[in-house]
This record gives sequence, structure tokens and C-alpha cells, in this order.
Amino acid sequence: MAGGKYSLVPTDVPKVATRYRRIQTALPVPESLTVLESLYRYEPRSMQGQPPIVWDRAEGCQVYDAYGNCWLDWSSGVLIANAGHGRPAMVEGICALARKPLLTTYCFPHAGRAELVRRLAEYAPDGLDKVFLLSTGSEAVECCIKLARTWARRDGDSRKNVIVSFQNAFHGRTLGSQLAGGMEKLKDWIEPRDPSFVQVPFPDGYKNSETDFDVFERSLCEQGVEFDRVAAVLSETYQGVGPDFMPPDYARALRRWCDRYGALLIWDEVQAGFGRTGTFWGFEHYGAAVPDLIACGKGISGALPLSAVIGRTPIMDQYPPGSMTSTHSANPLSVACALASLDIIEKEKLVEKAASNGRVLKTGLEGIQATWPDVLGCVHSVGMVAGIQVVKPGTREPNPNLALRINEACFRKGLLMFAPVGVAGECIKISPPLPTPLEAIEEGLAVLDEACRQVI
Ligand code: PMP
Repeated sequence: MAGGKYSLVPTDVPKVATRYRRIQTALPVPESLTVLESLYRYEPRSMQGQPPIVWDRAEGCQVYDAYGNCWLDWSSGVLIANAGHGRPAMVEGICALARKPLLTTYCFPHAGRAELVRRLAEYAPDGLDKVFLLSTGSEAVECCIKLARTWARRDGDSRKNVIVSFQNAFHGRTLGSQLAGGMEKLKDWIEPRDPSFVQVPFPDGYKNSETDFDVFERSLCEQGVEFDRVAAVLSETYQGVGPDFMPPDYARALRRWCDRYGALLIWDEVQAGFGRTGTFWGFEHYGAAVPDLIACGKGISGALPLSAVIGRTPIMDQYPPGSMTSTHSANPLSVACALASLDIIEKEKLVEKAASNGRVLKTGLEGIQATWPDVLGCVHSVGMVAGIQVVKPGTREPNPNLALRINEACFRKGLLMFAPVGVAGECIKISPPLPTPLEAIEEGLAVLDEACRQVI
């Protein structure tokens, strides 16, 4: 069986039995190989990037296979399960709609849709009063690009069409979202390039030490972009490969710059939203840098496919009835799931919990990094999202192989993380569901430490 990054040869591993983890078979499980082989046979190779566990059920902060094993989940899928996996209220919400039955409505109204758009508008900053529901994060980003470019030409200036985004950014895999992405290796299929998509350095302070806002203008000048041609600046609130935040001063300067040149500010909150960073929105870390448009996804529903664009009314209302729609916009089951997930986030104060447990996660990860500073380049950790940059000894050069070996060692010990393969394989990305108990966070830290001890 060729191809995947993880070995599919079942290997005996030490048994584990704790409150949160249970490993009692060889891994991958020999009986699961038929499923894995079928996937390898019928899916494109691009789908082979994750640890070879066949998910059977997932509850709270744990993922189970059908063979008696259980992993402590540090992936939330891919930052989806903010409210925790398989929460009964979410399951009930979905089942109630399914039993009615009401499985789809296209753009015909349904009550849940009305409730969800109202609630999302209430969560958004003042002035961002309209919500358009879609299915994927990429779709939400594409929609923001379209809205911004249409808005920019409202007075007939078709030259105002530049979308500025950031180097190393990830906004999805569709054409527009990838044009706005800042990872060159993911874009070589797009030739010729559209010159109206421009990237500038992201001021993360580690990969790029220049964090002054001057760099933004300088980079645009170097690329020959006239400032008043910029329709919008689009950025992930934090870049997923870090997670890397901008300095708040930079973000605020960016907001002022957008106001000065009549450009929209778009935050891609697909990863950062819905409590992940210990604030409801990620951009709350930036104070006054309030966006004109927000792209949401992942944690918005906590499970089923759903995304959204939230924005200012005049921008959102540009198109006449029937001309900005999507087949699965506000699918009733996804909406029911999102409403229940939002209730859980509120009732269980998961935003606050992410902030407080996040402090423990950060301290623990910093301790691990300090033990192997030569190869664990740096730790960024905010709320329930963290990343460790794995590097070649004593350099800042990425070391995806070592990152993969640490990830695989954790997998064998019952700690599950997704591998950000093909995007930034050198980053050990950590994103537990927000309700994860503190003792489980501490247990995960001990497992990661053990895995590093073993591999490094
Ligand atoms: N934006 C960001 C910041 C993301 O992390 C992702 C997905 N990883 C996307 C957009 C694309 O979302 P989707 O995969 O749902 O299209």
C-alpha cells in the first residue's frame, strides 16, 4: 500500500489505559486496514494525510475507533468541534429536524435560518448586521472577495479591484481563495496569475521579524500597487500555520489605512471564531480593528457543513433578490446543529474556559519547547489553539519530518492531532475542543512531552 505519510503496517505499541486514552491493539488496527485500503484505492492521494485511525464515534474531547481504542482529541477534527464532539443537544437538534422531516429547503425560508442569522448578527460588532449562510469556509472567503470587488466599483471605477492578502496565508482551496492565499507552493497550478491579487509580508515576528506597519505600504509600492486601487485587505485573524497574530498596533494601523484608501477590511475567522482563542471573535485581540466583512466556518456549527459571511448592510445588500444564493445555504440540519452549538458555547461559558485553560496549555507547551529549543523553534498559544514550529537544529528552517514523527508518536500513545500536511507540515498544531477538562489538557501535555523525549 503506497502513498500515505503514516505507516500502514500494524505495529505493536505499549498499551494505554487512562481516563481519557485507551490503546489496546496494534496501530493501525489490523482489522481496520480494509477500510483504509478502500480509501487509498478510491480516493485521491491528497486525502491520505492524517493518522490512520478509523473514527467510529466522537464524544466530548475523545475520539473512538470500533476496536476498543480511544484518543484524547487535540484536533477538534480540524478546529470544527468547538463545543465538543457529539454533544447530545446538537444530536437532538439535528434529529428533531430529521424526524420532522425537514432535510433541505434551498433558499426557501425556515425558522431555524431566521433564528441563526439574527443570533450571528447579534454576536457581530455594531454595524455588521447582515448574515449570508453558506457551506464551506472557502465559499465564504470567495463571497467576501466578490462583495468587496463589487463594492469597490460601485461608482464605476473598475480599476479599484486589488485584493491584498498576506504571505503564508491560507484561505481555502478554491480558485479565488487560493489566489488570495499566500503559500506559493499551493498556487503553481494557477498560471497565469491574476495581478489583482497581491500579497504582503505577514508581521508574525518570528518568520518575519519586521512588524512595523511601514512594511505593508513599502511592499505594495515595491509591487507597483497604487493604494487607491485596493478594494479590500483580507487576512486570517491569526495565520493558522502559527498560530500567528499580528501586533495589535499593526492591525489597528491596517484598519486606519483601509479607511483612508476606501478599502474594506475582511477578517477570515474560519479558524479563529466562536471562542477558539479565548474571545468570541479572534479579532477582539486587536481592539479597534473591526472588520467590514467576516468570513466564518468550522466552529460556527461545531460539526455539520456551514459557513457564513457577516457584514455591513450596504455591502451585503448589493445584489438583487435571487442573485447571491447557494444551493445548500442554511441547510436545516446544519442550522439546528449550529444553534445547539452556540447554546452550549454560551451556557458552558466556553469562551472564558478557552481563555483560562489556554493559559495552562501555553505554560505547558512553553516548558516543552524550553527543553528542546534547538528543534522546537517557538510556541504560539492563544486560548485553545497552539502551534509548535519544528525546525532543523539551531535554525529556523522547517523540519516537517520531525514534526510528523512527533505527531505519530503521540497518535500511538492515544493523543490525536491532525497533521497540517501540504500547508505547513512543520507545525505541530494543537486545537482541543473548548470543553476539554483541565486535567485532560494536562494529560495531553504529559503525552506530548513523552513523545518528544522519545523522538527527539
Ligand atoms: N480559511 C481558513 C483560515 C481556514 O483555516 C480554512 C480551512 N482550513 C479555510 C478558510 C477553508 O475552509 P474550508 O475547508 O471549509 O473550505
